[in-house]
Amino acid sequence: MPASLGTAIHNTVEDLCNLDISNRDEDEVGWFHSTAKDVLERNWKAERKQFMDTPRHPRWKTEMLSKAHDGLVGALGFLFEKAGLPKLELSDVSIQVWRQVQGIVLATEATLESDCGRLMGRLDLLILDPDREEEEGWIVADLKTGRPPRSELDAKVRRQLLFYRDLMKQRSPEHKSIVAEGWYSSNETAYVADGPSILEGAIQAWESMEITETPFQATPSESACSFCEWKAWCPDWWVSRREGLLGGGGTFRDEVTKLVRIDPDSGAALFERAIPIDHEGALTGSDYRFGAILKGQALEQIKQFEQDELEGFLFLGSVRVQGRIVHLGDWSEVLPWSPILESASD
Ligand code: SF4
Repeated sequence: MPASLGTAIHNTVEDLCNLDISNRDEDEVGWFHSTAKDVLERNWKAERKQFMDTPRHPRWKTEMLSKAHDGLVGALGFLFEKAGLPKLELSDVSIQVWRQVQGIVLATEATLESDCGRLMGRLDLLILDPDREEEEGWIVADLKTGRPPRSELDAKVRRQLLFYRDLMKQRSPEHKSIVAEGWYSSNETAYVADGPSILEGAIQAWESMEITETPFQATPSESACSFCEWKAWCPDWWVSRREGLLGGGGTFRDEVTKLVRIDPDSGAALFERAIPIDHEGALTGSDYRFGAILKGQALEQIKQFEQDELEGFLFLGSVRVQGRIVHLGDWSEVLPWSPILESASD
């Protein structure tokens, strides 16, 4: 959902920057707010469709449209500032003002490719740098709709911004002044990424991504496994949980289980925790059982398994623990336990 929200804002900024207003009266006001709203709603709808078409998705939060609107206002604020304009209400933006903003935008959503063709990035905005007008400086700007940094940019975000900057420098060596900025709409602050070129390191990273017959050796750890998207197909974290190397506490946790019984009408279920017997995903039963209440998507998935007469163990992702029972809903995942142990061959 945060990714969809971010994309809707990005696409709306891009569409507004590329809006054809060449034939409009420069004094016209009162048009921008409704246009921005319409464009945002159109992009919001497109994101919703894509989200709902994705097989593993949680609930779509309609109420976050107002957050998207706030994010859009924050993102547009950067453009007004860089164009040398005061902070404006969207309803006060005239055609002439928006032309001034469009005048500093050199590119939107541009694809950057390294000379060697191995590295690629997509920048959100390339704009004229008002602080380096004489040198015809450029700003590579990346819109950020997530949580802003407490003080400094996160190392990964900084590297991403430097990567765009360096690709742009490689493409346009005649431009001496190219800076990269992360524009955080939630606190309306632009963070500059400084530092030496990172292209060499990026090429080395690319070279180390060669496909191998067998997967990398698993290295389970609390920080790595907690939010790992691969967990449902990786037997090692479950072995580590069993051996006490990973904690299994917390309000939200994952389980590997067998369904003992379920009442499809109420969603009340009983599960039996499975015990790993090797590192390849083989399991056996246990005498540890727990009750669960299933709703929404989780209940639908279990019902489908019952209908398909699918037997075997189940991965339960993000179950919410409350007392002695757990809750599963739209935020959870229910998948057949089916570890992937080697690379697929095509
Ligand atoms: S769940 Fe498996 S793949 Fe994911 S971080 Fe843990 S060990 Fe690695």
